[in-house]
Amino acid sequence: MDFGFTEEQQMVQDMARRFAEEEIAPYVDEDEKNHFYRREILSKMGELGLLGWSIPEEYGGNGMGWLEAVTALYEIAKVHTSWRLSISGNCWGPAMTINQYGTDAQKEQFIPGLVGGETVGSFAITEANSGSDVGSMKTFATDKGDHWVLNGSKMWISGGHSSDIGLVYAATKEGGGSKGLSCFIVDYNNTKGVERIPILEKVGMWPAPTSEIVFDNAEIPKDALLGEQDKGFQMCMWMLNNTRMGCATGAAALSAAALEGAVNYANERTQFGQPIGKFQMIQSQIAEMKLEDEAAKYLVYRAAWLKENGLPSQQATSIAKLSGCNAAVHAANLAMKIYGSYGYSTEYPCGRWLRDSKQFETLEGTSNIHMGIVAGIELGYQPNR
Ligand SMILES: Cc1cc2nc3c(=O)[nH]c(=O)nc-3n(C[C@H](O)[C@H](O)[C@H](O)COP(=O)(O)OP(=O)(O)OC[C@H]3O[C@@H](n4cnc5c(N)ncnc54)[C@H](O)[C@@H]3O)c2cc1C
Repeated sequence: MDFGFTEEQQMVQDMARRFAEEEIAPYVDEDEKNHFYRREILSKMGELGLLGWSIPEEYGGNGMGWLEAVTALYEIAKVHTSWRLSISGNCWGPAMTINQYGTDAQKEQFIPGLVGGETVGSFAITEANSGSDVGSMKTFATDKGDHWVLNGSKMWISGGHSSDIGLVYAATKEGGGSKGLSCFIVDYNNTKGVERIPILEKVGMWPAPTSEIVFDNAEIPKDALLGEQDKGFQMCMWMLNNTRMGCATGAAALSAAALEGAVNYANERTQFGQPIGKFQMIQSQIAEMKLEDEAAKYLVYRAAWLKENGLPSQQATSIAKLSGCNAAVHAANLAMKIYGSYGYSTEYPCGRWLRDSKQFETLEGTSNIHMGIVAGIELGYQPNR
């Protein structure tokens, strides 16, 4: 067992940290205030290879895998968690799923743009009345012989209205439930009958676009089908087992950011003639944050190691996401207390940490759903994939 980085992993960490400090940090406050998605950050991520993890080099991949990927994502998310979504939205969602299930033509057409940052990606599963129960989705793709027609609408889609290319999961068999779903690659810039409506009123993740997508007799080509018809549910679960690493890593990084902020503040702020960090109750809060933060980080690396070695990782991924989520929400809450009234001011990042931390309890499987996965595997009710 080795807890140290290889030389390559150290280089990745240094590069991602520098990138986050130079290209993301200067815009955090401005973009947060204006709810602005700075598209060029994605392009720069692509140029540096930050979107090409576990993708073959012939399609633009960076030749590195899960351990390096979570190392980079962690550094980016620590500065602003919204930008972690780009790695899931471009690489672990569409690019990796197309690489796993796509034809050579689909791989050549779509993967290079996604990993190069020239195209913005997304994946659309959720609907207004279909969240945790993925098999109940109502968006339907009708086979018209030489093309498909999509009808229905998707909700809460990250990157939705900025996205050029998206995976869209839809039913292809009436009453088929999870046995009748399929996955389609939708080229949003060249598809008529699609309306994308930004969701502007949301609690956090302000610089990251979130959208409703309405398909009204949207015609997509025959070869937009990814993988086998009616096997979309299995593909969706395979994809989520990858993209959930973005949540797990992002949550661990947010916890680390809140801890770091709280430590600095506790050392600077004096009350009763001494730094507040000298008070036992503040120390207890810092210790609680540190315990959960360390555990979250190592659980992320454990899940990444399992994936890198092709071992079953579903339970480890859910554990990492749950642990990261709990650490992030708790750390953000404690940081706000430690900062006192300054924590309540928008001039300090505590409010952003707290608002952003809450996403992890819901997206890509709510905490209840992940508890169910962990317990179901532990009790032998479902396999650990
Ligand atoms: C910022 C943001 C970004 C998102 N990005 C995307 C995206 O890019 N693509 C996408 O497809 N979706 C996206 N989503 C949607 C997200 O994945 C769903 O919101 C999530 O899957 C939960 O679905 P729901 O909101 O409909 O909740 P519901 O499924 O309605 O759940 C409501 C409550 O019931 C509980 N519950 C439901 N079923 C069970 C059960 N079996 N056992 C115990 N408790 C249960 C849940 O835990 C929750 O507490 C995003 C959401 C947010 C907030």
